[in-house]
Formats: sequence, C-alpha cells, structure tokens
Amino acid sequence: MSTFETKDACLDAGYCIFDSVRKPDVILIHTSYCIAKNDSFNLNCILNYYKKNEVAAHYIIDRQGIIHKMVNEAQVAYHGGKGFLPDSNFQINTRSIGIEIINTKSSNITSNQYQSLLKIVKNNIQNYKIKYITGHSDTAPVRKTDPWNFDWKYFKTLLGNDSILIWRNYKYY
Ligand SMILES: [Zn+2]
Repeated sequence: MSTFETKDACLDAGYCIFDSVRKPDVILIHTSYCIAKNDSFNLNCILNYYKKNEVAAHYIIDRQGIIHKMVNEAQVAYHGGKGFLPDSNFQINTRSIGIEIINTKSSNITSNQYQSLLKIVKNNIQNYKIKYITGHSDTAPVRKTDPWNFDWKYFKTLLGNDSILIWRNYKYY
C-alpha cells in the first residue's frame, strides 16, 4: 500500500513475477540520465533505454520530484546486476527495492527529488523490515559509480527519527 502519489511509467520489461510473498529488506538507490545530447533529463528516453536492455527499477523520480512507478514492489525488478550486500547475500534484486533518481554526473539531485525519495523510503520502512539503504556503487563498486552526487548525510538528516542504517563504503552509518 502506497501513501504517496505515483504516475504509471508503463514499462513492461525488466522484472519477473515473484511467485511467493516477497519480503524486500534492502533499498538500493541509483541515478540515471538520458545519453542523448541536451536531453539528459528526458524520462521517456531513459525508460526506452531500460526497456531495450530489459532492466527496470521499482520507481524513477523525475527532476520535478514526480514518482513514476515501473514495477510493483511485490515483484523483482532487474536493477542491481552483479554485486554483493554486506551480509554476503548475492541476491540483490530478490531482496531489494530499486529507486532511480534522474540526475547526471555533473548535476545535483533536486530538493523535490529528495523529498519524494523520502516518501518512498518511509513507506517502505512501514511496509517491510528494511535492514538498510545503500547505493549501486556500494553493491557493485567495480562496475558502478551511481548514485552520482547523492548527499547521504543530508538524506540521513531528512530521515530524522525514522532513520535506518545506511550501508556505504563497507560501513554502516
Ligand atoms: Zn545504478
């Protein structure tokens, strides 16, 4: 059950139907942009790229902070790829909720985007026993550098009393 508004991103690829009740316990943060010149923040361009590559996250947050839902949380989305979690479980996609934020390597995440992310994370904390939140570059440090320019300290402040553990650079915060 969501307590935040979403738009349907209508992506019909990049996930699998999980046949038992899934209990995600990890939130994995990403950033994405469109590689077309001068159109970095174009949502449809990013979605088309995902579709072509048969990947998806559960949510993508656009520059205005609008949350677009790609995959139901009950289903496994393919966003983490090969990597690891601190408790050495390689089933990253099976265990996690993936959230993409539209941002480039040289731009900053907007305050509306942080607020929308906060809504999703708070909702996830209520619905699941989330153990920690982490970034793609932490689960796949050799391959991935996102989420770019994500201010983890600031986000921890936003979480306030609902603070959950952040796993970064092989440490919990
Ligand atoms: Zn990523």
